[in-house]
Amino acid sequence: MKKILFVTSEAHPLIKTGGLADVCGSLPKAIAELNQDIRLIIPNYQALKSSESVRFLFSLRVDNRNINILETKLPDSNVLVWLVDYPTFYNFPGNPYVDEFGEPWANNAERFALFCRVVVEVAMDRAYQDWKPDVVHCNDWQCGLVPALLSLENNRPATVFTIHNMAYQGLFPVSDVVLLNLPGQLWHPAGLEFHNRLSFIKGGLVYADFVTTVSPTYALEIQTPEYGYGLEGLLEYRKDSLGGIINGVDLDQWDPKTDVYLSHKFSTKTLDKKRLNKAELQAKFALPINDSVPLFGLIGRLVEQKGIDLILECLPELMGMDVQFILLGSGDKDFEKQLEELALQYPNKMAIKIGYDESLAHLIEAGSDVFLMPSRFEPCGLNQMYSQRYGTIPIVRKTGGLADTVTDTLPETLLNNSASGIVFNEASASSLLEAIKRTLILYSVPDSWKKMQLNGMKKDFSWQKSAQEYLALYDSL
Ligand code: ADP
Repeated sequence: MKKILFVTSEAHPLIKTGGLADVCGSLPKAIAELNQDIRLIIPNYQALKSSESVRFLFSLRVDNRNINILETKLPDSNVLVWLVDYPTFYNFPGNPYVDEFGEPWANNAERFALFCRVVVEVAMDRAYQDWKPDVVHCNDWQCGLVPALLSLENNRPATVFTIHNMAYQGLFPVSDVVLLNLPGQLWHPAGLEFHNRLSFIKGGLVYADFVTTVSPTYALEIQTPEYGYGLEGLLEYRKDSLGGIINGVDLDQWDPKTDVYLSHKFSTKTLDKKRLNKAELQAKFALPINDSVPLFGLIGRLVEQKGIDLILECLPELMGMDVQFILLGSGDKDFEKQLEELALQYPNKMAIKIGYDESLAHLIEAGSDVFLMPSRFEPCGLNQMYSQRYGTIPIVRKTGGLADTVTDTLPETLLNNSASGIVFNEASASSLLEAIKRTLILYSVPDSWKKMQLNGMKKDFSWQKSAQEYLALYDSL
């Protein structure tokens, strides 16, 4: 049995801003089910919600600060969660990274550096809990300093660093190096320095024993300038210790047969009931209730990564077609405004909700016919997998995890029962429109459509296989 300390800045259902939380809430459970001793460590944000009891475990002194470690559990599991409790840094309402105006908290470098230092103390069992992990598995830049700081320790655990999104790197001014009192040995261009700035993510990329990312295609893409943000050289240099493991789906949360958010549950055998969700969704968004009109859905952060600009470019033409479009998301204020204006212009065809709404996200997956995900880059992406499980045909760009999880519909893939979505290549509005038109032709042939739906619903997106791959990796270190 391996002892694994799983380090993350968010985990569903404790705290979530995006896909990172989905992964960090479900992967540890899947690893625990393989009979491993895995524990999660996460900052104790004010917004963190635990339905399980929380108890005081021990105190630590780090950086002249008194830190408490509290213990709880990941809901519906036996996975222990250690909360790093330091109210001065983490007891703020709202988002873990940004204030109510979307601006990063001014002391983010300090907040996450302290978190990393606490993790190192716990990983070295310097609080004498008689529990020293074999592996410390870190996720994204917020945990980046952990592999770097651990590299300076004797008798240290092995380290894994998983990139969920290269676009977020934790870059801070040089002055923070002094402020954070970082060891001098780490401060050089082949270390934490990145063009005269402090890079948290480099702490993981340079110093972790193994680097993973969340899909095989993204693992290759980030070794190229288009996706590597100037770190492609380093990643290529590390290619023998770099791999992609695709994310799974938490089937306790995302299964149309048992989904607690749905009034009308369905499965491959009762696919007909999907239309009841469609009607409920149309009613909720005050669109005409019409089963035959193809309903397009989109859920996500409204940022350029997700190709929202491509959607905006396509929308006038899309609205000229016999379709409906529903969007749930928040992000870039300019995108939000443009979408709101368009929704006012086409009240019978388009409706949007700006905000974050877990329950509505489930209904959109269940009630839509088509899911739009034209991402410019997508490390893994979850919604395209949820869509397939819910009999909703995803339109995706051929990049990252989208390329690895959606099979384009072509005569041969229809024949061999693998077709499960529509895949297009170029990040342009015209390619997206072409894909939409291709989708509408398929929608008009109910037999093919149903075949695509069933192909997607029958795919195995469970965590088991991926958890086994992580375990094999831990064993190899
Ligand atoms: P990313 O991590 O880049 O944001 P993913 O597709 O990997 O994208 O995961 C996004 C997750 O967040 C999904 O579970 C998705 O349903 C959820 N999500 C994103 N935006 C919203 C929203 N506005 N309301 C509800 N859920 C959302």
